[in-house]
Amino acid sequence: MPVSAKTRVTGLFGYPVGHTLSPAIHNAAFASLGMDWVYLPFAIPPERLAGAIEGVRALDLAGVNVTVPHKEAVLSLLDDLAPAAGAIGAVNTVVNRDGFLTGHNTDADGFLQALREGAGFHPRDRTVLILGAGGAARAVAVGCALAGAGEILVANRTAARAEELATQVENLSGARARALTWRGAGDLKAAAFQADLVVQATTRGMHPRAGECPDFPFAALRRGVLVTDLVYNPAETVFLREARGGGARVLGGLEMLLRQGALAFGLWTGREPPVAVMRSALVRGRSL
Ligand code: NAP
Repeated sequence: MPVSAKTRVTGLFGYPVGHTLSPAIHNAAFASLGMDWVYLPFAIPPERLAGAIEGVRALDLAGVNVTVPHKEAVLSLLDDLAPAAGAIGAVNTVVNRDGFLTGHNTDADGFLQALREGAGFHPRDRTVLILGAGGAARAVAVGCALAGAGEILVANRTAARAEELATQVENLSGARARALTWRGAGDLKAAAFQADLVVQATTRGMHPRAGECPDFPFAALRRGVLVTDLVYNPAETVFLREARGGGARVLGGLEMLLRQGALAFGLWTGREPPVAVMRSALVRGRSL
């Protein structure tokens, strides 16, 4: 679509943004629906974030995605937060309605959609084991808790962060939650056996360190249990290969990436996101 006098502008605020696939995904979606919209990458250093957010109002951008390192810092610059964003304590999507900025977090619902569409799994009454306690782990824990998970177990390198997340989940929902010690194996082994869903939500195994894998008792997994890795580059991590070798069903991070983007598209435009088009753009972009 050519840019016109009426083009609506969206984009990504991050630092850096050089490798993002989001412009390819969203611009393909706008074009497929014949929409006069565009999605641009904006490299915003941390000290410029407040000015950039004011720029969303001043330039009347329809909204933006927010990524590393701004997902938490942006909270205090917005006018309102959707409940999930408030609970997670991080925003990945900002919607601008006449200068009033609302922060959303589409990672939680994107993850739940990915589970449902990619693996036919719903966390209701299930036991979920989460490795990690960073932003992505928080989104998964809050999403699963609000979706009715029975028990959420959290293991993290820094134990205090796992404790904090488990306490937050219990305060938020009816789910039982417990922090596990990662070292000493016994605790984690029992949890691996108990889990209906295992979520690898640390940065281990992510490009350029694709050879790495969190220390995990794969042999304790039950056959057919669902194991997901939020890392999407590479599409299949060593963690997923090991889990599959142990008899698990596996789901990589690309489906969640796609779904959280599609949800942001819907929030900005009010239109049904063309998921198939967005998936093709993602696959094409990854192979370039
Ligand atoms: P983050 O907030 O920086 O958290 C990083 C997590 O990884 C923390 O729990 C950290 O533990 C742990 N960690 C880091 N290095 C480790 C190591 N050497 N050994 C064990 N644990 C280690 O990052 P994030 O935003 O949560 O992102 C986590 C992953 O999810 C990234 O790979 C990201 O690309 C992916 N992600 C994917 C999607 C998607 O749509 N598929 C969406 C969001 C994020 P400590 O607390 O001990 O530091």
